[in-house]
Formats: sequence, C-alpha cells, structure tokens
Amino acid sequence: MPQANLDSLRAKALELGADRAAVVQVRDITMSDAVAFKCRVPRCPQYASCAHCPPHAPSPEEFRRVLTDFHQALVFNLHVPPEVMLGSDQIDARRRAFRSVFELAAKLESAAFYAGHYLSFGLAAGSCRNVLCHAQKACAVLEGRACPHPGLARPPLEAVGIDVFQLAALAGWKMQPLGREADAAQVHDSSLTGMVVVG
Ligand code: SF4
Repeated sequence: MPQANLDSLRAKALELGADRAAVVQVRDITMSDAVAFKCRVPRCPQYASCAHCPPHAPSPEEFRRVLTDFHQALVFNLHVPPEVMLGSDQIDARRRAFRSVFELAAKLESAAFYAGHYLSFGLAAGSCRNVLCHAQKACAVLEGRACPHPGLARPPLEAVGIDVFQLAALAGWKMQPLGREADAAQVHDSSLTGMVVVG
C-alpha cells in the first residue's frame, strides 16, 4: 500500500475516535498457539460458543499462512477507563467500549477497501458473541443461520493467536495486562486494541 494511503488510513482512525494508531509491518507480528490456548485454559465463557472464537476462528497456523499475503497493518487503540474495564456495575459501558473497537475495525476495513485495497480485513477485541449477540441464546452461525451482524462481527486479535502486548510494543505503546481482580487505582494503562490488515 502506498505510504500516502497508509498515512490517510491512520489519520482516519484518529478522526473516527481511536486514541492511538500506528502502521506496523505484518512480518513483525507474533502469532502463537499459546495465546489462542488462553481462550481454553482458563476457559473463556465464549470458547466454542461463537463462530469467530476458537476453535471456530482461524487457528494461529492458518492465520500465519494468510498473513504471508500481506505486508502492512494498521493497529489502533482506544483508552477505556479502568473502572469501566473492571467494574461489576459497568457491563453496559464495557460492552459499548468493546463495540467501538468492532465499529472502528469495520469502518477502517471499509476505508481501505474503497481506497482500492480490497483484500483488507479487520480484527477486533473480545468476542462478538458477548459484544453483539449477548441478548441471543446462541451464535446464529453455529446454529446454521446467517450472522445478523456481518458488517461488524470480526474475530478478536487473540482468537487467531496474536499477542496483543507484543503488537502494542511493535506500535511503540506501553500496555499492561489487566486481570479481573486488578485494583483500578493501580492501573496505568487501560485500553482496547484492534487492527486492520491492509491488502
Ligand atoms: S455476531 Fe453473533 S451470530 Fe455473528 S458470529 Fe458473532 S456471535 Fe455469531
């Protein structure tokens, strides 16, 4: 992708509400079976319950093969207050924050597509089962029906084995893992990350 298009995609990410955005080289992104394994142990409630989560998401091995056809990706990040990420009374606000990442990934994917990079695709943060279909009994796709959110639903970075902390470091950002039991007052960086692979 020409540098001017990458610069304008990065500018678009910031204009659409990302707090940080950076272009990275796809060859530098680390994928690991260990990351995808974290969806299973300890078991995420969405494991096997969503078409975009393991074991239905592309495996790290498959994703690694796909990425050999690409050169650059735009990584973006949204600050989310730690109280929202951790609070038991913040479920709706937390869901809205995750949804913003899905929306940004879809809009930036679309912007790349219409700039002529028609193979571009987005990856989000968190499971679309939890973010977009939490009110449904099950993932429609896994029940043999059409996804009601084809324009928004994308696999999360971690589902395909991308190490989000390594990705953030690649972008030049500091990020700290955020456990459920963390003390919000001690959290210095609370954010969500998505990416658009440009092709
Ligand atoms: S958005 Fe809903 S129906 Fe579509 S893949 Fe995700 S969970 Fe399944």
